[in-house]
Amino acid sequence: MTIKTDQRNNFNNFIDGEWVEGSSGNVITNYNPANIEEVVGSVPESTEEDLDRAVESAKQALSSWKGLTGAARGQYLYKVADILESRTEDIAETMTREMGKTYPEAKGETARGVAILRYYAGEGMREVGDVIPSTDKDALMFTTRSPLGVVGVITPWNFPVAIPLWKSAPALIYGNTVVIKPASEAAVTCAKVVDCFKEAGVPKGIINMVTGPGSVIGERIATHKDVKGISFTGSNKVGKHIGQQALSKGAKYQLEMGGKNPVIVAEDADLDLAVEATISGGMKSTGQKCTATSRVIVHSSVYETFKEKLLHKVQEIKVGNGMEDDSWMGPSVSENQLHTVLHYINEGKEEGGKLLTGGHRLTDGDYAQGYFVEPTVFENVSSDMTIAQEEIFGPVLALMKVDNLEEAIEIANDVEYGLSASIFTTNIQKMLAFMEHMDAGLVRVNAESAGVELQAPFGGMKSSSSHSREQGQAAKEFFTNIKTVFVK
Ligand code: NDP
Repeated sequence: MTIKTDQRNNFNNFIDGEWVEGSSGNVITNYNPANIEEVVGSVPESTEEDLDRAVESAKQALSSWKGLTGAARGQYLYKVADILESRTEDIAETMTREMGKTYPEAKGETARGVAILRYYAGEGMREVGDVIPSTDKDALMFTTRSPLGVVGVITPWNFPVAIPLWKSAPALIYGNTVVIKPASEAAVTCAKVVDCFKEAGVPKGIINMVTGPGSVIGERIATHKDVKGISFTGSNKVGKHIGQQALSKGAKYQLEMGGKNPVIVAEDADLDLAVEATISGGMKSTGQKCTATSRVIVHSSVYETFKEKLLHKVQEIKVGNGMEDDSWMGPSVSENQLHTVLHYINEGKEEGGKLLTGGHRLTDGDYAQGYFVEPTVFENVSSDMTIAQEEIFGPVLALMKVDNLEEAIEIANDVEYGLSASIFTTNIQKMLAFMEHMDAGLVRVNAESAGVELQAPFGGMKSSSSHSREQGQAAKEFFTNIKTVFVK
């Protein structure tokens, strides 16, 4: 029996300040990954025509929006923040039911969305340029910033509130207008965020949302001549493709992609702290974070003790529907993602990894209707194995044993990604060596790999990003162009 959701979770596209039906008449229906008999809601399976209308609306709204003061734009964002805050419970519940993360995590993410909006609302009153001394004594020279224009925001399903907001809020405060294409798998949650903008009475056209397949709607954003900036988070394959398209039409682009994040546990580490952080970094959100801990590189002298403590805690993890109070880890987001995780577990076994715990889909009782997988730990993993190299996006940890810090850092760097990395040590020399030699955009000491603060730049090295950074003040660099002004 399929459990129907209430009609308030059936959304249309948001174009020119109104909720409008998609032109194809078809919809995408989302089911709860913890119980696939439960319908969560639906969004239109839109066409290129819908996207073109949204871009046109954003284009028309540009001149009046960028003509407002930053302070006035900020007032709108403060209002959106208040509305989002007042809807936290409903939005968090929708998120849990739509993409599976636990309700406390979903509430935390929604609170973060509120904080992001308030942070960028304040940006409307901060400086945008520098005064530069001219060699001409009768001239004034300074820089100011202009918005890019219409910005396309293409987002993944793993943070359906925070990521659309950490891209859209800075885009808007600096005077751009926005068209969002949310991930299909979490589009209902994103629609509820967009509805906060409608409720706040933001001018029509400044923010639009068009749902539908990435291969149609995302592709059209990437190729549309009037989309002057593209901010993307998702897989490397799609990101690189979007980057090429943006480049060929001359648009600015920013790509945040995968990670294969290491944690190093030194011989002098606080092992209990390291165990907690490894599990939290690797298994929260079912390992579906680009900053998730994946490779655990441990000094041989503490390896056995660390392993024992880790396994003990991993085996205590309660997997279940994220709406239940005692669930610590929810399901994978989709059947596809579940099969990807199981595929990697199989590769790990076939290539000689030793499965210490987990490794299977959970199918008994309440698990039968969901995409649940056991928290999984491997050992005897060498750096060249598939599970040590490729992003899994599941609750799978690979233990690796080393004899010194140099070897640990060498292994930590031996992947195509460079998003986040952490070390556990009480030795300042080791901390400094790690900070200096680790090739990652986010380097963390005595803290899990998956911690991101909204006021700091975020992004990766190597294949993890397009060398751009988002969030914090870095967002200003992406969402504006610098204009140098010379006045004689
Ligand atoms: P994708 O890269 O396919 O999806 C990310 C976004 O891009 C979605 O909105 C998607 O739309 C859209 N998209 C898909 N194809 C195109 C296209 N041709 N042109 C423009 N936009 C497109 O990631 P998946 O959701 O399929 O996840 C696959 C893997 O990617 C994961 O297993 C994980 O390894 C990685 N990933 C990394 C994330 C991160 O935070 N860095 C986040 C999500 C995934 P639609 O949803 O409609 O397909």
